Amino acid sequence: MNDHTTNPWLPITLRLAGARVLVVGGGEVAARKVRLLLKAAPCIEIVALELNAELGALVEQGAITVSGTAFDAGLVQGCRLVIAATDDREFNRRIAAAADAANVPVNVVDDPAPSSFITPALVERAPLWVAISSGGAAPVLARRLRERIEALLPAGYGRLAAFMERHRPGVKALAVEQRRALWEQFLDGPGPERLLVGDEAAAAIELESLIQGEPARGEVYLVGAGPGDPDLLTFRALRLMQQADVVLFDRLVSPAIMELVRRDAERIFVGKKRNQHTVPQDEINSELVRLALAGKRVLRLKGGDPFIFGRGGEEIAELSGHGIAFQVVPGITAASGCAAYAGIPLTHRDYAQSCIFVTGHARADGTLNLHWDQLARPGQTVVFYMGVVTLPRVCAELMAHGLPADWPIALVEDGTQPTQRVVIGTLADLPAKVAAAASSGASLVIVGEVVRLREQLGWFQPRSTT
Ligand code: SAH
Repeated sequence: MNDHTTNPWLPITLRLAGARVLVVGGGEVAARKVRLLLKAAPCIEIVALELNAELGALVEQGAITVSGTAFDAGLVQGCRLVIAATDDREFNRRIAAAADAANVPVNVVDDPAPSSFITPALVERAPLWVAISSGGAAPVLARRLRERIEALLPAGYGRLAAFMERHRPGVKALAVEQRRALWEQFLDGPGPERLLVGDEAAAAIELESLIQGEPARGEVYLVGAGPGDPDLLTFRALRLMQQADVVLFDRLVSPAIMELVRRDAERIFVGKKRNQHTVPQDEINSELVRLALAGKRVLRLKGGDPFIFGRGGEEIAELSGHGIAFQVVPGITAASGCAAYAGIPLTHRDYAQSCIFVTGHARADGTLNLHWDQLARPGQTVVFYMGVVTLPRVCAELMAHGLPADWPIALVEDGTQPTQRVVIGTLADLPAKVAAAASSGASLVIVGEVVRLREQLGWFQPRSTT
């Protein structure tokens, strides 16, 4: 038998505006169908002995009308659809038979056999619908798939479809083939991203310049990749990673995350190890500009959050100076990631009413120019980024400015990753413990009484526990 003849359910999209739809039943199941049908704004007539609160409210608002309390076969006449949604299976089937006899498509809720149509699992991005149907074979599977597509499609995706519809007249003058090529070019350029961040005017300019035959322009995504665990990426980060033409990344971006970048994207390592700035910052800035001006979708992937000790501000300042489209995607910063995965809350009602992020990176002349009197206080948590080299000095200064020698402090190395290590100690003994543990990964230092909570709240079991 030919496979094509064995799939008897055909998904179609139906115009319901102005059509009559009859729903029989007044409970939760009927309400669920009514909620869906209302999106297509038909006139919905309902037949039920009793209406639940939601349906009652809709009747009061005039959104739906009641055609009576008893079903009569005559009611299906002239309807575009009938839904049988009572809790009486036999009754539902009689309704289906009446609709069938009148050639009106009918759906019996949760009973595909007597149904002439079934509703697919749906993802809505108006005016766009994604419908997933298993032909009634495995609704749970269809729903699973829907969840995945739901996560994949940006919330603003419908805006893109609406924009393209509005601009169809402007593109109409072109021949069909050219029209398609133009839309393809538009979808590959910076226009869609402009729309998704809500800048319709910029998208219209992009489209116009394509209509004028100018080459597609590039754009830059400055994206925070989080602290290392790929599951901590945002939906938007992942989406941009999968559509970039070229990626500039540094050591803080874990290999597991680089795995998720589009396979055929060009990868450029721009380094940055402690004391070894492989590519100077201004060269990175001008490389971003050069690639974007060449029409590329450039992903600048940074560890953690690009605006927290990430020099992200400098990179986009250069872009904006050249009029290049860009967007910034926040990421989970190392402090949040390490704290969560080490079981150390950054604030706590009893121990820390504030939290400070500071850099422990020494200046070129070796000085650590921090406001020690503000950092060496109880009732707060202080997180040092880039603080492993200067750890002994940090501990000494905090004690010199008044914190006790047994004040809790933790070092989290490779936070959120399978190689995560946590060393707990006091201001007096942590430097020696860390030296003994021979830390080599990225490390964050957390100072404050919240560190003690780890004993109770630690949960993450990395592969190499020490
Ligand atoms: N923009 C990044 C920080 C860059 S500064 C962010 O928001 O997280 C680099 C410092 O971040 C490192 O020296 C280290 O202190 C810290 N860091 C980044 N990722 C880390 C990780 N997975 N574990 C521990 N520390 C990390």
